[in-house]
Amino acid sequence: MAYKELNMSIPSSFIDRLLTSVSIVDIINRRVQLERTGGRYKAKCPFHGDGNEKTPSLVVYEETGSYHCFACKASGNAIHFLREYVSVFRNMFNY
Ligand SMILES: [Zn+2]
Repeated sequence: MAYKELNMSIPSSFIDRLLTSVSIVDIINRRVQLERTGGRYKAKCPFHGDGNEKTPSLVVYEETGSYHCFACKASGNAIHFLREYVSVFRNMFNY
């Protein structure tokens, strides 16, 4: 799939509208398991290490629609997450 090429042709106004209509918690939770602790969502970060972290370092902020990993400093919004997530699998399977 030509994900990058497709992404470049999407107008930013469309992306802004998309981001306000989707839940980042929902998007990330479909791919990595989120735990709710103290009003925040945490997950084991899929972007560093081998996915076998002992303590979750990826925090998802529902109110701002963003995520941040305190170990590898990966951060962004729902679209950044999906883009990074796809590239992890691309690198893994070398396609
Ligand atoms: Zn990380």
